[in-house]
Amino acid sequence: MSTDVIAKLKQMAADPARVWLVGGLTYGELLAETGRLANTLVALGLEKGDRLLVQVEKCEAVLSVYLACLRTGVIFLPVNPGYTVAETEHFLHDAEPALAVTDPGRVNGLRALGARVIDLPGLLALSERQGADFSDPAQGPDDLAAILYTSGTTGRSKGVMLTRENLASNAEALVGLWRFTDRDVLLHVLPVFHTHGLFVATNCVLYSGASMIFQRAFQPAAVLAALPQATVMMGVPTFYTRLLADPGEMGAATAHMRLFISGSAPLSPATHAEWQDRTGHAILERYGMTETNMITSNPYDGARRAGTVGMPLPGVEVRITGPDGKALPQGEAGAIEVRGPNVFQGYWRLPEKTAEEFRDGWFITGDMGAVDARGYLSILGRAKDLVISGGLNVYPAEVEAALDDLPGVAASAVIGVPHPDFGEAVVACLVPDPGEILSETTIRAALRDRLAAFKLPKRVLILDDLPRNAMGKVQKAELRRIYQALFVDL
Ligand code: AMP
Repeated sequence: MSTDVIAKLKQMAADPARVWLVGGLTYGELLAETGRLANTLVALGLEKGDRLLVQVEKCEAVLSVYLACLRTGVIFLPVNPGYTVAETEHFLHDAEPALAVTDPGRVNGLRALGARVIDLPGLLALSERQGADFSDPAQGPDDLAAILYTSGTTGRSKGVMLTRENLASNAEALVGLWRFTDRDVLLHVLPVFHTHGLFVATNCVLYSGASMIFQRAFQPAAVLAALPQATVMMGVPTFYTRLLADPGEMGAATAHMRLFISGSAPLSPATHAEWQDRTGHAILERYGMTETNMITSNPYDGARRAGTVGMPLPGVEVRITGPDGKALPQGEAGAIEVRGPNVFQGYWRLPEKTAEEFRDGWFITGDMGAVDARGYLSILGRAKDLVISGGLNVYPAEVEAALDDLPGVAASAVIGVPHPDFGEAVVACLVPDPGEILSETTIRAALRDRLAAFKLPKRVLILDDLPRNAMGKVQKAELRRIYQALFVDL
């Protein structure tokens, strides 16, 4: 069993000099703040197992509220502040939180939906009147710590139930693998409503007694200015491409850095190579999802192979299965399934949906992948994004890799759309590098040497931008919706 998050917090707070936030709280002050907030939640009538919905713009206090929930046994339920009030209704009705904490501007909107609401400044003001001592009730490893909603690109978003052990086991595995120590300073630029910025980043810091520079938004200039004080940065691929868009010299600001990590969406080998050229650092790519925390990671010491997500974390098992659910031989492409202490307990109030996504204790991730002879996993895309053209499987990631390799291509997304002859046709959506002019004909000609005929895009659409969610993930369902009628008149 792993050390619980709160036990770890108390251990770290025993050293009065230990800094949690650079220019902000020490661990001792963090423990006191979480104590006051825990007392406040109890005073407001919240009990173990109740849900606390937190929908606020990124700020330091969110992390204290998260930890206060863990101290009381209240389930932390963060929601993207980018959602409108109407979009938030689903979470209120589905999770039935005992209390919602939000920004002042959203209080009336959520109240109108029938929620009990307090704004974050109001909650913090109440906590100032509480004592810092809180006698923590006993918590078990299988108690729920948080419910995070999936981004719900197709259908309704589902509440992912995560236990304390899910979080603790993953934090311990990552700290060991990525060699976090109390000398580290993490540059925190990710959102805190999502597993990446909330659990991966924050818990790696907490479990190693490290510090963080906490920035409320990702702004390339502010990141570049803070890097000299940091040792580790975690980001999504779009962070790295946006930093690379700055033509300035980056070697000096990054020379002392220990580690750059990327995840939540595929990092193109081209970005990996350019980052290495400009900074000398090989970005370490890892793979995970809300339901499973982190699953695989490229090695710290061994080769970090671009286009792969590395090997399973210690204690985590991965297998690749065929359509019959049987494990496939090494090298073959199939469904990625995962098992281990990192895997969630199921979808909130959706037992049938949960049962569908598990097979013999393995969670079916919904991603397709293959493991190479050296044990590195490559992600071939979401199963629902697989294109079946003329009866043949086309893995979007393979076509995207070929496209990203072509000069002048900044980003690509490959989708399948209905086609009268082929069932589905491969369609490529491309964004050119700034100032580049790409033509459909030359792109298709260039791909001919690289891809079998059935994988060649029937159309190449040159776009200004790709639709992405808050984590920088391309919204393929949205692209399919826009281009669904591309071939209907043929
Ligand atoms: P989320 O639950 O929002 O974190 O999304 C999880 C999904 O993001 C996974 O199922 C993958 O499809 C995708 N993902 C996460 N990390 C990577 C990665 N390194 N490469 C490719 N896809 C990734």
